[in-house]
Amino acid sequence: MDEYVVIGNPIAHSKSPDIHARFAAQTGQSMSYERLLVPLHGFKAAVQVFQRRGGRGANITVPFKLEAHALADQLTERARLAGAVNTFKFEEGCILGDNTDGAGLVTDIMVNAGQALQGRRILLLGAGGASRGALLPLLQQRPAELVVVNRTASRAEELATQFAAYGPVRSTTFAGLEGAFDVIVNATSASLSDDLPPLPPSVYGSETLAYDMMYGRGPTVFMQSAQQHGAHVRDGLGMLVEQAAEAFQWWRGVRPATAEVFASLRQQLSQ
Ligand code: NDP
Repeated sequence: MDEYVVIGNPIAHSKSPDIHARFAAQTGQSMSYERLLVPLHGFKAAVQVFQRRGGRGANITVPFKLEAHALADQLTERARLAGAVNTFKFEEGCILGDNTDGAGLVTDIMVNAGQALQGRRILLLGAGGASRGALLPLLQQRPAELVVVNRTASRAEELATQFAAYGPVRSTTFAGLEGAFDVIVNATSASLSDDLPPLPPSVYGSETLAYDMMYGRGPTVFMQSAQQHGAHVRDGLGMLVEQAAEAFQWWRGVRPATAEVFASLRQQLSQ
């Protein structure tokens, strides 16, 4: 039985074991997937113990994604640019690191929500880990423009500079935002505290998709405000399921179907 874990602190809330158990059953893979609670200063040691006992891979969540980036022996390009790793694969004594969060977001927007990104105007709110992980996968869809804004403007500027070689990305301030966007992605953690990024109403058009990466607490204040301005809205549950599918495929070589898993998680969360 091939063993996988999700490592974090806290970890009890993680939906990943449920998602991967469903993927494994659906694709007939013989694997286990458990939660691994690791002390805040014990990440490296815990990974090494799991790797030595034959573990095949791991997901990494808060607060260890940066440490996972530092610990990996090899990184995919998207993980290197994200500066954060959410998936390990252990192979011949080596730790391979990937970041599947941004790909999960793009799949959820394009495939599940049916929203094209090529040639579109995208607004990305936030300049933390989630935003950094989303930038390359979003730019790879060749948008007309990707604008990054952040409460601390200098962090958005740094991100735009770092990713300028990969597509038409620029930063601005909230006050400097002009015109409507096709897609607005809230990659801030503002919704956790029911805060609303100060967007001017002009960013919304009747076809705008307003996407909040947060999930699990019903429509966020960001989603409610966007809806009042006529936008379509979506939370980050699909991103969670799709980043897991991306990791599962990397580990097992088979792509699981996600629709049923998504529907069942949505039902659990609404109870
Ligand atoms: P970070 O702590 O790395 O970054 C937080 C970002 O939010 C920063 O840009 C910060 O701005 C901004 N921010 C925080 N509070 C506010 C506020 N009150 N008003 C405006 N901006 C604010 O967090 P992550 O990037 O790791 O995560 C961001 C969100 O994405 C979280 O809600 C997380 O749950 C979600 N997420 C969802 C995933 C999924 O699968 N659906 C996967 C990964 C993340 P500043 O720089 O000024 O501090």
